[in-house]
Amino acid sequence: MRLPPGVTSKDFSDALKQFAEAVGKDWVFSSDDDVALYRDSYTPFWHEEEEPIPSAAVAPNTVEQVQQVVRIANTYKIPLWTISTGKNLAYGGSAPQLSGSVVLDLKRMDRILEVNERNHYALVEPGVSYFDLYQYIHDRGLKVWIDPPDPGWGSLVGNALERGCGFTPMHDHFDAHCGMEVVLANGDIVRTGMGALPNSKTWQQYKYGFGPYVDGIFSQSNFGVVTKMGFWLYPEPEAYFSGNVTVPKRDDVHALVEIFAHLTHSGVVQGTTSVIDMPSFAPPDPQLAALRLSGDTKALEDYLAQKGLGYWSLDLPFYGPAKVVAAQWEYSKEKFSSIPGVRFREVESHRFPLDAEQLAKVRDPVPLGVPSLGVFMNGGPRGHGHMDFSPTLPMTGEAVLEAHAVLDKAYRDLGSPTDAPPGVPVFAFFPRALVILYWIPIEHDVEKNKRSRAIFRGLVKTAAERGWGEYRTHTAFMNDVMDVYSFNNHALRRLHETMKDALDPQGILAPGKNGIWPKHLRKEKA
Ligand SMILES: Cc1cc2nc3c(=O)[nH]c(=O)nc-3n(C[C@H](O)[C@H](O)[C@H](O)COP(=O)(O)OP(=O)(O)OC[C@H]3O[C@@H](n4cnc5c(N)ncnc54)[C@H](O)[C@@H]3O)c2cc1C
Repeated sequence: MRLPPGVTSKDFSDALKQFAEAVGKDWVFSSDDDVALYRDSYTPFWHEEEEPIPSAAVAPNTVEQVQQVVRIANTYKIPLWTISTGKNLAYGGSAPQLSGSVVLDLKRMDRILEVNERNHYALVEPGVSYFDLYQYIHDRGLKVWIDPPDPGWGSLVGNALERGCGFTPMHDHFDAHCGMEVVLANGDIVRTGMGALPNSKTWQQYKYGFGPYVDGIFSQSNFGVVTKMGFWLYPEPEAYFSGNVTVPKRDDVHALVEIFAHLTHSGVVQGTTSVIDMPSFAPPDPQLAALRLSGDTKALEDYLAQKGLGYWSLDLPFYGPAKVVAAQWEYSKEKFSSIPGVRFREVESHRFPLDAEQLAKVRDPVPLGVPSLGVFMNGGPRGHGHMDFSPTLPMTGEAVLEAHAVLDKAYRDLGSPTDAPPGVPVFAFFPRALVILYWIPIEHDVEKNKRSRAIFRGLVKTAAERGWGEYRTHTAFMNDVMDVYSFNNHALRRLHETMKDALDPQGILAPGKNGIWPKHLRKEKA
């Protein structure tokens, strides 16, 4: 059996016994077969010593049991790695950062505590998946939408704590949360925002409560175990419409993104979309591949024009009253009409509610608030899996061009598996910044994974030199990414460490998460 670092086998077995007394013996997992289920099948360290493998897992069913587990872990100095549904694929799955950690699996805590149709919010436990909440709402015919990310089997809590994103107007998931309950490392429970007021009537309606707003410190961190979280839901809209805009020239990206930024910041466009460069997304053929490598922009523009494609393509999603949605599309077309050669196309239009037959026909249900696993049918990247390299960029055409030029070159120079980088979408996931997303393959092949890790680390550095940092990263690169957030001699990391030492002096919660190490492991790991 694998042991947590620095813990004797006697102490570990005593701790497991106490975990079993707290949660029931069926909910402590320590056999090799059970523990293997918590490995990350897409780890970039497959077949290598460095693969972080848990020693055991414990699955409490109540907040009180979470408190007991945390207290036992404190007694025996056992590192815990919290997961909600553990589907953090592309970012480390359910595996810990530190080998030998015990996975604190909250999947059993799957109660939907409230869905409020009148004021459009929900309060859920960590084990509630997007499918669960959708089904609950659907079964009761409630007129509210959830906002799932591409794979619907994850949890609202885990995804929002990672600051993940979906596609409807509630797409920024951490921003859409309202109020938390958190078990701290010492076993104490805190409720944030209005939850601190006993009998509060607005825990899920007013975020800030009184005094410092602390919710942020529990996201992408290891300062607590979140046991309840509120989310704002979107009132079922009357209509959805998506229209496509294409522009013919490479340099049109400046006007395209500037107009888009104005529309989205004004609230005219509300959902997630992406700026697509057609040279890398058009159906591949040898002529296109040669033109992409030649760097001859004019020839590439002409080629795409012959194929009836623009150089850049952007879908615009609109949600709301049918009349308003139609007016928003008209207004957007008017704005983009200033770009010579711009073309518009209606992509999709729906009135709600949709019945099962209509829903089965939609291109992609996720932007309509319906969870799916369809993303796994799209072929995905080469190999077994992928990691996402995802830095944030300013919402400007200059940034899009510069990021493509700099990162595509770095990707090739670092020894990429192909001559040209794969299609790299630039997402408008967040209200005011773009995120460029490189899928870096992971395979069950040591040499290929070493190359992928080197590419990833190289991209982190190259991006940072340009002022672009990742919004979220795989556990394998959390130290690397935290390293580049280095203003004033790593003042932010020092602040995180000060908070870690105060809140979790024994360092039992998720050591290493987002580059935050407890004191006793700091020098060794940083
Ligand atoms: C093909 C593909 C497409 C994807 N598309 C998207 C997408 O559209 N949008 C998106 O956001 N992501 C996407 N992902 C990434 C990932 O699958 C999702 O973000 C997923 O929802 C995360 O898994 P989870 O919800 O089970 O979180 P978990 O794995 O449960 O949690 C994630 C992390 O959050 C922390 N955590 C979780 N619960 C708690 C808690 N209760 N208290 C304290 N800390 C906690 C832990 O560090 C944990 O490792 C995609 C992945 C793949 C492979």
